[in-house]
Amino acid sequence: MRGLNIFLHPSPNFGRRRHGRGPDMVVLHHTAMRDAASALARLCDPAAEVSCHYLIDERGHIFRLVDEALRAWHAGAGRWGRVEDVNSHSIGIELANPGPLKGHPPYAAAQMDALELLLDDILKRHRIAPQAVIAHSDMAPGRKADPGAGFDWRRLALRGLSVWCAPGEQHKPDEAAFLEQAAAFGYPVGEDIPTHAILDAFRLRFRPRHQGPLDGDDMAIIMALAQTYPCRLGP
Ligand SMILES: [Zn+2]
Repeated sequence: MRGLNIFLHPSPNFGRRRHGRGPDMVVLHHTAMRDAASALARLCDPAAEVSCHYLIDERGHIFRLVDEALRAWHAGAGRWGRVEDVNSHSIGIELANPGPLKGHPPYAAAQMDALELLLDDILKRHRIAPQAVIAHSDMAPGRKADPGAGFDWRRLALRGLSVWCAPGEQHKPDEAAFLEQAAAFGYPVGEDIPTHAILDAFRLRFRPRHQGPLDGDDMAIIMALAQTYPCRLGP
């Protein structure tokens, strides 16, 4: 990989990708642990039964735990578009950050720089579209909230490594229409997930720290996302 300094730190926690193809998504996480060393230990502990493909520490060091061809165990229950086995479809990247343990500190500059280099390389090699780079919170609304409100999605999108939309013309708030558009973009809309959980997950990513009832900007953003980046991933 060009210009990337990657340390091998193999985890025993992996399996085969069940569809037998390569990855077509990337899921970003934060570790929510005290430090990168504790996270690496847990992600390599057979008893924990969790792992990821890469972990990036605060200094920008990249560790590879699981080969990209294999299925790491980072996503858990959830869905994106029609993809239910997200682990089989994705590359999982953990960013060392204590998250809620220490009041959500910002992501380090060196860590973000390393993430951009790694993502650029992964997207090119696997021909993964920017809209298929998502948050753990996107595929598991109400259950997961990482990488959280402090993560700079706009910065990634400006480099073609994810997607972003600023609110344009306002649209009348309409819950059913919001859910329909959210589903078209990829959110796992369904009877098992309350509407507020979908709205919270969407805002965590596109309107961080915004609260209150569904409004015209939420509508404008979700409609633009669904129109520009409809989720075409399938099982
Ligand atoms: Zn996560």
